[in-house]
Amino acid sequence: MKLSSSAASALALALLAAAPAFAQQAMDPTFAEHQKAWTTKPEFSSPLVDHLPASAPGGVPSPRDALGHDIGAPRVLDHYADLLKYYRALAAKSPRVKIVETGKTEEGRPTVVVLISSDANIAGLEANRKNLARLADPRGLSETDAKAIVARTKPMYVALGGLHSAETGPPEMLMELAYRLVTEDSPLIQKIRANVIVGINPATDPDGRDRYTDWYDRNKIDDTDDLNPVPGAPYWGKYIFHDNNRDINYTGLSARNLLSFYLDWHPPVMHDLHESVPFLYTFSGQAPQNPSLDPILFGEMPWIANFEMAKLTGYGMPGVWTHGYVDAWSPGYVGFMSTNHNGLFKMYETFGNGGATTELRHVKPVRGPGESDGGNNQTKRDWFRPSPPYKTVEWSMRNNTNYMETGVLTGLQAVSENPQLIVENFYKKSRNAIESGRKDAPYAFIIPGDQPDMTRAALVVNLLRQQGIEVGRTTADVTLKEGKVPAGSFIVKRDQPYGRLAKILLEKQTFPDNKLRTYDDSAWTMGMMAHVKVTPSADLKALDVATTPVDQDRPQGTIGAPAAPAYAVLDHGSINLATLRYRLKGERVRIAEQGFKAGQTDVPAGSFLVDGKAYETLKAAGVPLGLTAVALTEKPTVASHEAALPRIAVYSTWGSTQNVGWVRYAFDQFETPYDLIFKDEVKKGGLRARYDVIVMPSQV
Ligand SMILES: [Zn+2]
Repeated sequence: MKLSSSAASALALALLAAAPAFAQQAMDPTFAEHQKAWTTKPEFSSPLVDHLPASAPGGVPSPRDALGHDIGAPRVLDHYADLLKYYRALAAKSPRVKIVETGKTEEGRPTVVVLISSDANIAGLEANRKNLARLADPRGLSETDAKAIVARTKPMYVALGGLHSAETGPPEMLMELAYRLVTEDSPLIQKIRANVIVGINPATDPDGRDRYTDWYDRNKIDDTDDLNPVPGAPYWGKYIFHDNNRDINYTGLSARNLLSFYLDWHPPVMHDLHESVPFLYTFSGQAPQNPSLDPILFGEMPWIANFEMAKLTGYGMPGVWTHGYVDAWSPGYVGFMSTNHNGLFKMYETFGNGGATTELRHVKPVRGPGESDGGNNQTKRDWFRPSPPYKTVEWSMRNNTNYMETGVLTGLQAVSENPQLIVENFYKKSRNAIESGRKDAPYAFIIPGDQPDMTRAALVVNLLRQQGIEVGRTTADVTLKEGKVPAGSFIVKRDQPYGRLAKILLEKQTFPDNKLRTYDDSAWTMGMMAHVKVTPSADLKALDVATTPVDQDRPQGTIGAPAAPAYAVLDHGSINLATLRYRLKGERVRIAEQGFKAGQTDVPAGSFLVDGKAYETLKAAGVPLGLTAVALTEKPTVASHEAALPRIAVYSTWGSTQNVGWVRYAFDQFETPYDLIFKDEVKKGGLRARYDVIVMPSQV
């Protein structure tokens, strides 16, 4: 339809009246029309997201310019390449955008963080990054100097979405948020641009984003039955599924890349965007809280969450709540990389349909099977849920976008109105972490260097290093209250910026209060998990022990002199023995059934016995694996059996792939080949002829 000129000017006037604060800026009428049409009830929108600046030809492109649709369009999900295409188009046209490349996923997709702020802030990014790094490690910084740095430093606020690939809204919403932050001239957006550097991680599991989008387009796009939905994709990323948010050791590459970014840029605030409960839940760090974390954090989290709840409820949006859902006990969520490193964490659950199809949703009164009403009744009013979500509701992708974007803009508002407080708190939490390591025992953790299998110690050390935790190696024997620490031991001193995280990961995990329940409580004590001796030290002298810093520990093995009749590869429990067996594929390897002596060396039962002819192969394979092979003066006579090389299959159902993924990951890491088989293979029969072992990981 063509508008007459008088109708057009009436429309223009109406738009001006609707947006008086930045009336000079032209808005996009098509966007406004779509936004209104795709929002299922007026109260599911807000004045922050019912408009979008118009783009000019050749100027900064709107999402519709680059993707062909406005955000929140029914039945439309974008693949990861299209997300990147949009952000790159934005960066190409605006000095307010800079893209930081952070690495690649398992399947080769690039991972990025898109930084957005004022022209001046983007021009000064490097200086700001250095300031935040200085505040993140304030050792040797006087209070006066710290104050001066705080005064000239902008907080960074990094939003991440799409860690869980079935939660499809956040990666869409973030593109509109980016465009709005770059282009809109409302006082709120101007203030955010001036006072905050916003980071966007477009999809935290890029491989899963594409796999899920394909699945949605093929299988779910016409599904509107929320009581009996078509299941989601059986795999997201290459290995793990929903557990990628319990990946405490950052095995997933996209999460690991984000952690590297974090440790380089030190954003004081991270905001992880999920989807599940209605309509918008904003995390505030309820009990049980990890007692090793800084008390300041537990003031900050509910402060911003309550600000958001007050603002969104004030806009008339129902169903915004906090508190009664997720707690602050586990250190294992990806977004907790911020709180684990003295930052501030925010998390949302926004109501989502598992895709972009508009559906009539029936809100379950309780969250999950077996859960009683104790605050979980999602449609009931409670002190932390003063305006409960509706029992049934027609829900759209645009509703999801409206809630989440309004929420994130409001979180950004809180930070932009208090930028110095956020940066100052970040500094104080970092400073307090170092001080707590000198005040509160244990002051250090010792990983003794004389443990029979140092490959597992290396695993612990390298995971700590990946988290930015400093580890030193002792240069001489020292004696502490707990006993002798031999030279070559590892020591993790607590008077360091990430000393709190070291304590959480290394001390024996003790649930704080048995009257409480927790959202997640997996075992994480690293020494126990890896069968490595880790000794806490209550001796303040531990902080003064001379050490050399460890970057990554790669213990090299040893092998006895060449030309021996045989070699014994000592079995002290290293999993690398599995890798070695497959690297020695062409060789005969036997396993000692009893321990015996080889000169001065005790050879334990379970050790590999390898023929002397295999010396070169054994050396090349075993030394980099950190294994010890001793030369035997004669062929071994100890009882032994062949170390078979079984042909392995891993069985997977189509529906529950989570634990199968972890098993596949472990096999791949340790170079153990296998076939992944499904029920079709089983139905075909003849498995015995093809496989010696079929592994069936738990898949309920
Ligand atoms: Zn999630």
